[in-house]
Amino acid sequence: MVEINNLRLDVNDIDKEIIRLLIKRKTISDAIISIKKKQCLSVYDKTRELEIITSLKNQFEGEINPHLIEKVLREILFYSKSDFYKLDSIITGDLDSVLEKMPFLIAGPCTIESETQLRDIAGHLNQNGIRLLRGGAFKPRTSPYSFQGLEDEGLKMMKSIAEMYNMFVVTEFTDSRQLEELYEFADIIQIGSRNMFSYGFLKQIGKKTALDRKPVLLKRSFNSTINEFLLSAEYIINAGNPNVILCLRGIRTFEQIDSMMRNTPDLASILELREHTDLKIVFDPSHACGDAKFVVPTAEAALKLGADGLIVETHNAPHDAITDGKQSIEPRELERLINYININY
Ligand code: PEP
Ligand code: MN
Repeated sequence: MVEINNLRLDVNDIDKEIIRLLIKRKTISDAIISIKKKQCLSVYDKTRELEIITSLKNQFEGEINPHLIEKVLREILFYSKSDFYKLDSIITGDLDSVLEKMPFLIAGPCTIESETQLRDIAGHLNQNGIRLLRGGAFKPRTSPYSFQGLEDEGLKMMKSIAEMYNMFVVTEFTDSRQLEELYEFADIIQIGSRNMFSYGFLKQIGKKTALDRKPVLLKRSFNSTINEFLLSAEYIINAGNPNVILCLRGIRTFEQIDSMMRNTPDLASILELREHTDLKIVFDPSHACGDAKFVVPTAEAALKLGADGLIVETHNAPHDAITDGKQSIEPRELERLINYININY
């Protein structure tokens, strides 16, 4: 027994030393991150991370299981970046607590169409305890001849309906005029998939939201890699706002040549993003699948894979919806999803 106790004391000392070293390592990596930020370099450096892991695996070959090295190092690297890729909870109190609820649900129509439409949908959502209302006032349409949204008036209307139901507005801005003139009407600013690469706009948004740290929901471009997606988030973070919510919404692959899916749901990317970031990860099954019948099961899969939240297009009369009716679910269907969440989370 004395022998075991002595050995345990040695182990305790080693554990303490490991923690001390981790703290030391974090201080150094914080210094590196702050230099990188000054020099506008990316915080997440995939090549460097791989180099670190591979070189250690080589150095200790035969002495320790290489998978263990990889696992431990991934955790350490995650910890190093954790202060950078993290929501800062000085967002307005109430919204903060809504986003802390796991998982959180953002629902509403693709487009704001009319006061009756929005009142009806918001009423249903409110009855189901949903606090985050989505709706587009400025629609980035492929054709300039398609309906472009109810614009300023639509957004103002949405804000007043949301306030009536004690809900928050999640809406897309597509240009800096909207960002300046309509800022107070959005509680969470959505950046659409098509604008993920609009670096100038991302910087403007980061600067504009730096003071109040209004959350920015950044949608992944359907043509982007995970690395590019994270770097776009860094544009906003580096401009002053750490409150970026990452939204996966499906990507384009060969599947779109003849598949029923509008996009390929990038579900497993939830796992990969989780390796790198503490930022909230939201999944959008509506745009990922493009068909209402696939929305709920895909949403459930996203939650199983660890998504923090969902954004789901919901419409009172999907067949009559001006945009994205095919992929919009009815409030009844959304209740199925809510039941699933209530039972499982
Ligand atoms: C939307 O959410 O309304 C939208 C246009 O999505 P995306 O930018 O992902 O296409
Ligand atoms: Mn849509």
